[in-house]
Amino acid sequence: MRVYNFSAGPSMLPLSVLEKAASEMTNYRSSGISVMEMSHRTPLYESILNKAEADLRTLMAIPDNYKVLFLQGGASTQFAAVPMNLLNGSGKADYVVTGQFSKKAMQEAAKYGDIRKVASSEDKNNTYIPRLTKEDFRPDADYVHICFNNTIYGTKWDYIPDTGDIPLVADLSSCILSEPVDVSKFGLIYAGAQKNMAPAGLTIVIVREDLIGKARPETPAMFDYKLLADNNSMYNTPPCYCIYMAGLVYEWLLEMGGLSVMAEKNRKKAALLYDYLDSQSYYTAPAEASARSLMNVTFVTGNADLDKLFAKEAEKSGLCSLKGHRSVGGMRASIYNAMPYDGVVALVEFMKAFADNNPKN
Ligand SMILES: *Cc1c(COP(=O)(O)O)cnc(C)c1O
Repeated sequence: MRVYNFSAGPSMLPLSVLEKAASEMTNYRSSGISVMEMSHRTPLYESILNKAEADLRTLMAIPDNYKVLFLQGGASTQFAAVPMNLLNGSGKADYVVTGQFSKKAMQEAAKYGDIRKVASSEDKNNTYIPRLTKEDFRPDADYVHICFNNTIYGTKWDYIPDTGDIPLVADLSSCILSEPVDVSKFGLIYAGAQKNMAPAGLTIVIVREDLIGKARPETPAMFDYKLLADNNSMYNTPPCYCIYMAGLVYEWLLEMGGLSVMAEKNRKKAALLYDYLDSQSYYTAPAEASARSLMNVTFVTGNADLDKLFAKEAEKSGLCSLKGHRSVGGMRASIYNAMPYDGVVALVEFMKAFADNNPKN
């Protein structure tokens, strides 16, 4: 039996994608070999990579003046690659801290230049998104960095901050492909694949062409966007199988009707859970309503022992990995694209029964 996996990542993949991959595992489309065994320098593999890129461009309506890179190293590697490539003018960059990942990104960038924390939501344990205007940013900053969906805290930016002419860089690891986003508003988007796209091991970078080619001299070749782009993401061996899996996920999304259809499904799933949370008092949802994530839903009972029991009993009912991040406690339900609506129905039913069976005196 397959369980409902609410893990923040690696997370669920669509069953039909897994089945397709399984059916092609040992002999990819009559080629006689597995994608895992295929040289990346073959026309057959190049067709897999090129189709994945073309489909991602279609899904996200990525403008022609953006490069798409398929890389390794996770989103965390981009915490360093971004400043190495973009911190090349004034040497200043502005960071907004709305959780642990944006904080880590800022700390990494601080090794390379004059990094300022523009605003943060740390004063309220990252339960909200700061309201910012163009005037909040240093006009000579090389870029502004945000984390668009805060995986640990269950918050998401409900607006794209206006940074004027300063390129906006965003970590979209936990919300990419969950709904349409206007790529042209960003100078650079990066995302680890293991939340909403593919198995762990692949990282996507979408970068405006005019921002590349000016990497700092000490930048390792493997971090240099220009070199990676000029080599069609194959400066070295790319994460071949993950790219193939991502390609299957892109096909799944296209067949469904694209990101507006996916967004509709995601809103329906999230609403089911948030509406229940708002309707009762046993559980509380710490994230401010305007900042609620569609992908990661955090909630607590207010009693650490009950929280622990909740996660343990849920696991026995086939509702897995609901324990919240240690910095927030409580529970976190990650309901990424591949989580079926029925999984959220099952979770809400479980929450109701748990509340009935475990009164708080
Ligand atoms: C998971 C996650 C990361 C870390 O990703 P790795 O691929 O493990 O480096 C960074 N940012 C966000 C928003 C995440 O959700």
